[in-house]
Amino acid sequence: MQNIYFTPGPSAIFQSVYQHTKEAFELQIHSISHRSQQFREIYQQCYQGLKKLLNIPDNMAIVFTASATEIWERLIWSCVENHSLHLVNGAFSKKFYQTAQQLQKKPSVYQSNFGEGFEIDKINIEKNIELLALTHNETSTGVSMPVADIHALAEKNQHAITALDMVSSAPYPNIDFTKIDTAFFSVQKSFGLPAGLGVWIVNEKCLKKSENLEKKGLLTGTYHTLTQLWKFFEKFETPATPNVLSIYLLNKVVEDMLKIGIENIRTQTEQKAKKLYDMLENHQHLQAFVKNKNHQSHTVVVAESKNGDVSNILSGLKQKNMIVGSGYGDFKNNHLRIANFIANEENHIDILIKELQNY
Ligand SMILES: *Cc1c(COP(=O)(O)O)cnc(C)c1O
Repeated sequence: MQNIYFTPGPSAIFQSVYQHTKEAFELQIHSISHRSQQFREIYQQCYQGLKKLLNIPDNMAIVFTASATEIWERLIWSCVENHSLHLVNGAFSKKFYQTAQQLQKKPSVYQSNFGEGFEIDKINIEKNIELLALTHNETSTGVSMPVADIHALAEKNQHAITALDMVSSAPYPNIDFTKIDTAFFSVQKSFGLPAGLGVWIVNEKCLKKSENLEKKGLLTGTYHTLTQLWKFFEKFETPATPNVLSIYLLNKVVEDMLKIGIENIRTQTEQKAKKLYDMLENHQHLQAFVKNKNHQSHTVVVAESKNGDVSNILSGLKQKNMIVGSGYGDFKNNHLRIANFIANEENHIDILIKELQNY
């Protein structure tokens, strides 16, 4: 019997991926040159599909890397001379901050307790901040940043590049891409694909910044600098050999999502999330880790055990072929992390809820 995965990355596969992969092999996609017209068409279609799905304006490029972690590094290298500011409330936003430290920049951090969001009115962003690092959905704790807060911070701080990690929520949040400067995700979470591709959406303000750093003689990286990635994007190519199969599959899945309709995807995501949070509100032993409803994630629902241990639940579910994420880091034994991505279909969420009610 096959498992049903509710893990927040790698995650359940979007239902059509099996068929698309079969077709890709029949078409020998894995062997085509990344300097061929066939590849350029795949890249271009993928770009146009993502633009349509996420409502991305014409002046933004979409480039590919190997992972979102790689994009953290590229962003800091390409767009920060000294000062980035990171809003940190969990392990992933913290790693983005640490990347800037490792690259020997002078990042600052605005931290809230894990499990809590931010009161944005209290955040003072100095004029010397070059990049503001925001995480829409903190996958380690299930805290989400309201989209209105993201827009407000970006509008108020136009001196900085606003960068948005949307790895575990895209394409769910309805982001106004004319307000922010760059955003990114990897495909093994809400896009329901095998891992191995980072997708980086980036505007000309970021490009200009990295060109300026290069003019000053600063190191912005080697093979995947933003200026190189952008130059190749203009002809729908990549500097290095990319994961062609994954770009092909992303294009196919985006086509499928366009058929479902982004509005339907958003409504379904909210309906399924509501079912999960309602279950937690009425549960004897479990409760939502994030208490403020405004900050509760719709795509990664984190439950904490009232008596401190979830290992029996995890193993009980596993016996029924349901795989749920355990807690992240220090929360390993007392949290459950439940992915509510597009591939986590409503009937599967219903089965999981029914099973969880037995504990
Ligand atoms: C998983 C995750 C990442 C890292 O993604 P990789 O593709 O593994 O590099 C970054 N940010 C968030 C919020 C994530 O959930």
